[in-house]
Amino acid sequence: MTTVSTHSPTSDITDFSQFALDAKIQRAIADAGYTTPTPIQAQAIPVVLAGQDVMGSAQTGTGKTASFVLPILQNILPLASSSTSPARHPVRALVLAPTRELAVQVADNAALYAKHTPIRTAVVFGGMDMKVQTPIVRAGVELLIATPGRLLDHIEQGNVNLNQVQYLVLDEADRMLDMGFLPDLQRILNLLPKQRQTLLFSATFSPEIRKLAESYQKNPKIIETAQRNATATNVTQEMFAVKDKNHKRSALVQLLKQETIDQAMIFVNTKIEARDLARFLQRAKINARALHGDQTQAERLATLDEFKSGAVAILVATDVAARGLDIAQMPCVVNFDLPYSAEDYVHRIGRTGRAGANGRALSLVTSLDDKLLAAIAKLVRMEFELKTIRAEEERPARTERPNREVKDAREPRAPFNPDRANTEARIRHIERSAPHRRSAWDEEELNYLRRKMAVSDDPFFSKPYEANPDAHSPKMDLAHTHLSSTMPQPKTKKPVAALFAMGKKK
Ligand code: AMP
Repeated sequence: MTTVSTHSPTSDITDFSQFALDAKIQRAIADAGYTTPTPIQAQAIPVVLAGQDVMGSAQTGTGKTASFVLPILQNILPLASSSTSPARHPVRALVLAPTRELAVQVADNAALYAKHTPIRTAVVFGGMDMKVQTPIVRAGVELLIATPGRLLDHIEQGNVNLNQVQYLVLDEADRMLDMGFLPDLQRILNLLPKQRQTLLFSATFSPEIRKLAESYQKNPKIIETAQRNATATNVTQEMFAVKDKNHKRSALVQLLKQETIDQAMIFVNTKIEARDLARFLQRAKINARALHGDQTQAERLATLDEFKSGAVAILVATDVAARGLDIAQMPCVVNFDLPYSAEDYVHRIGRTGRAGANGRALSLVTSLDDKLLAAIAKLVRMEFELKTIRAEEERPARTERPNREVKDAREPRAPFNPDRANTEARIRHIERSAPHRRSAWDEEELNYLRRKMAVSDDPFFSKPYEANPDAHSPKMDLAHTHLSSTMPQPKTKKPVAALFAMGKKK
């Protein structure tokens, strides 16, 4: 394998006109407002144009979609036809993506770049009626973007034939493997002509990814525009200590206020936490919505649009739901839960600081997270200082009459204790389906809920947030210190009405 680094001669390319791209494609690039190729574009485009396989690792949000779509369009342009016959529009290039959001995003970009050419682009993904997609793919499409499962459905129904595919892109290949798509990928790969160009993009190069590349690529050129597994350099990463799990929600409210966060994506590890936390924030008068895999595609896209337009301030999301979202200028990402894998941390914080903008990544850390935190620190090669969430300043009017805020809240409030009842109902709902019919998500959620029920009563809802005014910000020595020993411990308990402190949105 050959490696190209950021310092290769190709990084001399500073203008799209330096690529041998057709005028129709150049016009689309100009329409999109791009002037200078990003590092991954400067390096990958000439390699793809020259016909070589690529194994690309780029920082998230650095323009990798254009780095493969533009040269593929150029290569298939001579074969493009303006005929209406489907036979004249076979699938010549296939892009596989792990999630519908990423597939839609790639397809949107591809349509933009192909708009002055006769090349047809389309996207197919699960979660919506196949009937809507069928006539589009049956009419013929040269550049098809798909999630693996839904593509196989279309192949089985005879809507799509892959025997003329010359270009295959595996986008976010690491995530496709994480999500268990390997068998689907292998079935699809076996249907493709052997004579083709294969481009693999992945945020991280795990041993599994290397194995995939070895099995399906020919002498790929490795292009790394950033240190492997590195996080975007324009993202500030901060870790905040929280006393324990039961204090996380109120600590989050306090953190949003303390750090004056106007818009953020908040990551949680389960669908139920996404729902519950969004509801909790709404009750605290924070303009929040949940984004998770149980929602329909239409619901997720509508929520996302509201977030993008600024109508929604806080999006509480699971990793799966958030994968592939490109929200320009998102200023902040908050890890309410640290992710189970350090690589997911890199993906999550890649949602902010996109396309050169500055971003912030804040994480809540409890004493149970020390191993995860150490793994993250090792992966991103950083040492984190554990910061403290300040106790809220006293607000006599509110602390004296907290119930008034509740009564005035816009969201109607039922007498409160829905958490336990909801949890029980959700457990019953999942348990109703036979174990072999449950997804990995369902099992994970079930385990989480059972653990949650094991904690007999959540005192969090019945008493206000308590923070430690004397807490300090110790410097962590991750190699030698357990997080638990460095967590700030409260000396005096000082109730703070954090639940109702966000009444006025900044
Ligand atoms: P991607 O990494 O492909 O998801 O791209 C991230 C964002 O960067 C998208 O919103 C693209 O439209 C944008 N973008 C891609 N290439 C360029 C470029 N050369 N100049 C400015 N923006 C770009």
